[in-house]
Amino acid sequence: MSCKTGAEHIKSLQDGRTVYIDGKLAGDVTVHPAFRNAIKSAALLYDYQAQPENLALMTFQPNGANRRVNRAWQMPRNYAEMVERRKAMQAWARLSCGFMGRSPDHLASAIVGQVMGIEVFEKHGAARAKALRDYYEEASRNDYFLTYVIINPQAERGKDWGEQAEELVARIVDEDAGGITIRGAKMLGTSSIMANEIFVANLQPLKAGEEALAFSCALPMNAKGLRVLSRKSYEAAAVSVFDNPLSSRFDENDALIYFDDVKVPWERVFVHRDADMCRAQFHDTPGHAYQNYQAQIRLSVKIKFLCGLAHKITEAIGTTAMPPVREQLGFLAAQVSMVNAMMAGMEAEGSMRGEYYVPNRHFMYSAQVLTQDLYPKVINTIRELAGGALIMLPSSIHDFAEAQLAKIINVTQRAAKMSPQEKVKFLKAAWDAIGSEFGSRHTQYEMFYAGARFVTAGHSYRTFDWAEATGMVDALMASYRLEDELAAR
Ligand SMILES: Cc1cc2nc3c(=O)[nH]c(=O)nc-3n(C[C@H](O)[C@H](O)[C@H](O)COP(=O)(O)OP(=O)(O)OC[C@H]3O[C@@H](n4cnc5c(N)ncnc54)[C@H](O)[C@@H]3O)c2cc1C
Repeated sequence: MSCKTGAEHIKSLQDGRTVYIDGKLAGDVTVHPAFRNAIKSAALLYDYQAQPENLALMTFQPNGANRRVNRAWQMPRNYAEMVERRKAMQAWARLSCGFMGRSPDHLASAIVGQVMGIEVFEKHGAARAKALRDYYEEASRNDYFLTYVIINPQAERGKDWGEQAEELVARIVDEDAGGITIRGAKMLGTSSIMANEIFVANLQPLKAGEEALAFSCALPMNAKGLRVLSRKSYEAAAVSVFDNPLSSRFDENDALIYFDDVKVPWERVFVHRDADMCRAQFHDTPGHAYQNYQAQIRLSVKIKFLCGLAHKITEAIGTTAMPPVREQLGFLAAQVSMVNAMMAGMEAEGSMRGEYYVPNRHFMYSAQVLTQDLYPKVINTIRELAGGALIMLPSSIHDFAEAQLAKIINVTQRAAKMSPQEKVKFLKAAWDAIGSEFGSRHTQYEMFYAGARFVTAGHSYRTFDWAEATGMVDALMASYRLEDELAAR
């Protein structure tokens, strides 16, 4: 039984999409030097799942389907199925050491979670619920790589979204029997350049009167009028794989998405002019919980990789055995295990919602709050452990080709447990992960992909069992009285 392959995915991206970079139209993104290697890495995800020995781990066969698809599309009915699905996601994450944040399992998880709460859409309208159900069928059967834009450009944060300049925030500007027309922008379609389709929604709170902004839909990346404005490509700036092993291959890109009067057929419209439904599609369904549970699964891999990096840095500069360095490594290891333990907790303390098993929401939000704080601290610890080793490196592979320079490199890059060449190779990878422009973007990503701190902490506040916590305090207060103690004197 076959499933989607890398070659199929690459072919599917040659669809005439409108991507701009450095002032020009990119044309075929699969061969463009700004994107081609990241696209190859995305294709490798599909090739990995298509290998006969990985089919059972990575894929399942939906009822009535003639092909297997990635497990991210599976709706777990119990704890064991949830763990099985997670193992597939971790296997994918390992292929990029966790550096592809928007691998296809992220959006698949969002859609799966929303469909698990389809009754929320039924209340909004039978046609909208049917559109989402049908979309899940289409996207899962074809194993689409989806991404999303659900956040508005910042512009003037002090103003409500509806008060922003006319063309800024994507909104419905027209509708007819065929569908809606949208105009305006959304930030920041990570992986949009290598995705098949884009899910558009509004996660930030809207108020009455902002109904034109209150929609959600899905569009193919080559939809007429859909313009993708790429940020700088770190892949294009990479000198070689040896110099930039991560940015040269895993730069999943982020892009501003501008909708230049894009027509969306009704069959692809899931929320229509309903501010509260924009919130409900994520928060009253398991959608938000499922998409961010996937993000924590991916982080569990990435943070373990970073811990390994830290240990090897100390080997490269010969400090591993020093007690204060061991203490730092031990503390780092504890932080890494906390991420893994929180992920396991979300699963173990999950619960049934109808026929589906969902992760513990509060544990997931706690993990989000703590890890967006933790990530920059981990990066800082690695910098502390490294000193100048990450900087005292040959400018590029070309230095090795000059005999005179290679001789100096061989003397100055010595290490107890690595050859000079191995040391340079490793330290360049370490810098790419934590200090290069690519590495720095990852810190910003981990701090913000799920919302600023005030947003994630708000979710944590909302989902905590305050009744139980304050109930214990109330029970203590009820266990003694001033009057009784005065009377007993
Ligand atoms: C690398 C990267 C990739 C991303 N990819 C995607 C993507 O694929 N799809 C997508 O939809 N989005 C994406 N985003 C956007 C991301 O979801 C947002 O950055 C995030 O939700 C935070 O929103 P914001 O950027 O508007 O920041 P803001 O909400 O404006 O917050 C920025 C800062 O302003 C202050 N602030 C603003 N408002 C308040 C307030 N009301 N109260 C207190 N303080 C406030 C705080 O200091 C806060 O930290 C990405 C972001 C990054 C950095």
